[in-house]
Amino acid sequence: MSCRGRIPTRADVSEQGGDTDVRAALRAEIRNICTRYPSHYWQEMDRTRAYPEAFVEELTAGGYLACLVPEEYGGPGLGMAEAAVILEEINRSGGNAAACHAQMYTMGTLLRHGSPEQKQRWLPGIAAGTLRLQAFAVTEPDAGSDTTRITTFAERRGDRYVVNGQKGFISRVQHSDLMILLARTTRRDETETKIGGLSVFVVDLREAGEALRVRPVETMINHETNELFFEDLEVPVENRIGEEGQGFRYIMSCMNAERLLLASESIGDAHFFIDRSTRYASERVVFDRPIGQNQGVQFPIARAYIQTRAAMAVRDEAVSLYDQQEPCGPEANMSKFLASEAAWGAANVAMDTFGGYGMAEEFGIERKFREARLYLVAPVANNFILSFVGQHVLGLPRSF
Ligand SMILES: Cc1cc2nc3c(=O)[nH]c(=O)nc-3n(C[C@H](O)[C@H](O)[C@H](O)COP(=O)(O)OP(=O)(O)OC[C@H]3O[C@@H](n4cnc5c(N)ncnc54)[C@H](O)[C@@H]3O)c2cc1C
Repeated sequence: MSCRGRIPTRADVSEQGGDTDVRAALRAEIRNICTRYPSHYWQEMDRTRAYPEAFVEELTAGGYLACLVPEEYGGPGLGMAEAAVILEEINRSGGNAAACHAQMYTMGTLLRHGSPEQKQRWLPGIAAGTLRLQAFAVTEPDAGSDTTRITTFAERRGDRYVVNGQKGFISRVQHSDLMILLARTTRRDETETKIGGLSVFVVDLREAGEALRVRPVETMINHETNELFFEDLEVPVENRIGEEGQGFRYIMSCMNAERLLLASESIGDAHFFIDRSTRYASERVVFDRPIGQNQGVQFPIARAYIQTRAAMAVRDEAVSLYDQQEPCGPEANMSKFLASEAAWGAANVAMDTFGGYGMAEEFGIERKFREARLYLVAPVANNFILSFVGQHVLGLPRSF
């Protein structure tokens, strides 16, 4: 089965063979697209800190980034299993799905909690590729990982909210039309629970004008991320998702999707390092033998592979639960943890295998090494996954 440059739909999944066939076709198609964006394309993007517009545009035009949009809104109506394949393959090819991954996980907020009018307003444009929902604004400098401490405030004034405050590390804002925003609508000390009083909005970035100031943050990777300053930004009431004050719950309910998608990117990264290391260790001859003949070189690569397969097994289990709409919090969190650790382990193995050439830009290892590091701390630092498992899975005492 071939997707012929366009993503298959849910009907293809059920009519033209099993899910496995569709995923295999999807994997092959993404691999094919990625051959047009080889290592030197990503290197150039990285060196000039440019947004990979041509790559994102091709994925958008093929409908891949609208993977989760239901067919009634013009999307292919696929599931998390197919979304995971897309992101994993991009990273396995040496690309960086972080340039466009958010459209998949921000989608959940709108799909699960948006009104029929809101879905009708935004989803067909996203499915058609004319509208980008790539930005997701939660983090604030003074709150850090304690999201309930955010202070950006949306004050209701008649038929609008007026937003004031600041966000940090908000990615892809300069390449998105819409942004999901989490803001307080009741101050923390005036709510009964600390998670109350938070609300979610869809901000139309094209209309924000001077009320939203964007200051790019330079980081060690090519990741368009920004500080945002809101000064009386007006957001129409009809852009609020769900009920006022329930935003924390809405955002949290979409976190499993985010964990699974980023785990898939990390698995792609791990495979990239393992593939490259295996090839290099087989070809590079020192002391009259391929370096991979030495167990000191071979075993770390084998270990990285084993750890990656373990991460995949937990990710696949979590994805399957997610697609069956079963609870999957522990599995989704554990797969993000295992996958990011496996990728980071494999990244270090690749650096060792390539010796000095690991540091040379043209081999592409050092770039991916830097990129793979992100997922140990974002979108949630791995410490919080340990804490989640300790408290909610094992029943250990709450630590914060
Ligand atoms: C490149 C990049 C892109 C990003 N994009 C976005 C985006 O698009 N939207 C968005 O909303 N956010 C984004 N973020 C923010 C990211 O989600 C946060 O950086 C991350 O959640 C960690 O928050 P923090 O940096 O404030 O760390 P902090 O909360 O300050 O934590 C610092 C360290 O202390 C540890 N720590 C803190 N408290 C505890 C505790 N109680 N127990 C154990 N350890 C603890 C953490 O594990 C962490 O290692 C991005 C970040 C980066 C770097």
